[in-house]
Amino acid sequence: MPFSLIASRKITRSTEDQPDIATRPKRIAGRARFDPDSRRTSNASLLCMLALPACLIGGSSAHAETSLLITDVGIVDVEAGTVSAGQSVLIRDGMIAEVGAVIAAPGEDVTRYDADGQYLIPGLWDSHVHIFSSPTEPDSALPLYLMNGVTGIRDMGAMWPIADQQSLQSQIAAGDVLGPRLILSGAWVDAAPGSWPGMFLADTPDQARAVVARIAAEGWAAVKTYSMLDEPTYLALAEAAHAQGLPLVGHIPERVALGTAIDARQDGMEHFGRIPMACSTAEAQMLDDLRGAVSEGADRAHIFAIMAARNRIVLETWDEALCHDVLARMAASGMHVSPTLVVADFYIGARPAPDAPRMRMIPADVREAWTRPDFRLDAMTDEVRELANETIALSRRTFLMAYRAGVPILASTDASFANPYLFHGFSLLDELDLYVAIGLTPREALYTATVAPSRFFGLADQDGAIAPGRRADLVLLDANPLESLAPLRRPQAVIVAGRLLDRAALDKMESDLLMNGE
Ligand SMILES: [Zn+2]
Repeated sequence: MPFSLIASRKITRSTEDQPDIATRPKRIAGRARFDPDSRRTSNASLLCMLALPACLIGGSSAHAETSLLITDVGIVDVEAGTVSAGQSVLIRDGMIAEVGAVIAAPGEDVTRYDADGQYLIPGLWDSHVHIFSSPTEPDSALPLYLMNGVTGIRDMGAMWPIADQQSLQSQIAAGDVLGPRLILSGAWVDAAPGSWPGMFLADTPDQARAVVARIAAEGWAAVKTYSMLDEPTYLALAEAAHAQGLPLVGHIPERVALGTAIDARQDGMEHFGRIPMACSTAEAQMLDDLRGAVSEGADRAHIFAIMAARNRIVLETWDEALCHDVLARMAASGMHVSPTLVVADFYIGARPAPDAPRMRMIPADVREAWTRPDFRLDAMTDEVRELANETIALSRRTFLMAYRAGVPILASTDASFANPYLFHGFSLLDELDLYVAIGLTPREALYTATVAPSRFFGLADQDGAIAPGRRADLVLLDANPLESLAPLRRPQAVIVAGRLLDRAALDKMESDLLMNGE
């Protein structure tokens, strides 16, 4: 997305980019495995008292007490790009217990589901969302994810206190609230006064170290770096995070070069704009211009004008040979990228009609806020629109080069009530469709939402494979997703932590959301 447009969007909206709690890449030695389900135990269903659909199906019992046997199913191996037809899968206690053509002794209490030749894929992950931008957002967000086959989300920044986020996380893990697996990656750190309310602030290396100690003590899954940090503070943050065994994810600060972030071993980067910028022969000059303005005490408007001007400069100075070098370095470093390409749709007017089902499934007040006239769109001249289109085209071209160079991609959206026209659940499928439109195969796109995130997060029980010992987060489809992603739009069933949501259950979630949205 146009870098400047995104930048201004972040500043004016309230929850856009919150903390990322990514997780940890393998290349950092000595890190403990992150287990998102191991956080404190729940303290009751506060959420259910506030809430609607999320609670309707969520009973008091933990996951699957009974076993589930899925028969006659084609198991999709996303890594290999193959389908094994005629298989059965036995699920017990939320985990895949057995997979095979014949399951000899499934047990007496088993619930049977005849898949009748359907296809089974690992549940999807959206690696960049914000579900805590309002007190009741999870009530809509959680069912929207499950309905769309998204059984795992990484929250990148929240308006809720960490203890309340962890409470919901625990309730989901315990099966008291029905929802996707939740990773809390929203401990964002910015320079004072902070781009968002409630951020951790650091203006010196010492402050960065103190902030990381707090983040570790509070139990976040990662440290999220943010846009306005200066370079010495950023470098101290990276070092302190790694010393604590926490990954460093987030925005590469606006005054820090992409190459510096690679050298600092930043583990994950959010959004994509910094990559085309690093492919510009003017990256260093652009960084210097901003450093100069900040050190001279320029006001916010001036600083944002400088950042906004970067789009055109990048278009004029993007260099293919340089880009190959940059991407090769990124790929070698293992830095994972959460591109959130779907964010750009807002600026080119690609958005659903007011009466589209996905619009009607969000609360009326949120919908109303989204449809309010937007000064940024009103101010769009033909020239700005053309610049946006060119910037998007360059971004997509660079994305394909990055993918082909081996830069690891985590499918991601920035979905939040605070971000107009970015939808929990639906937008992840839009993002995957975009990857295919840009040139990835359906298998490659699926990989970014299944195998890649579960490995990056270092989960002990998920790696994108459908095999014994893996957590039973699965999606049943009525056609082969390796040929087209279209069947993702209507899952035949979703299994989350071993619990089966058949089509009737998914329809019920949908109708509850529609009712809630009236
Ligand atoms: Zn965000």
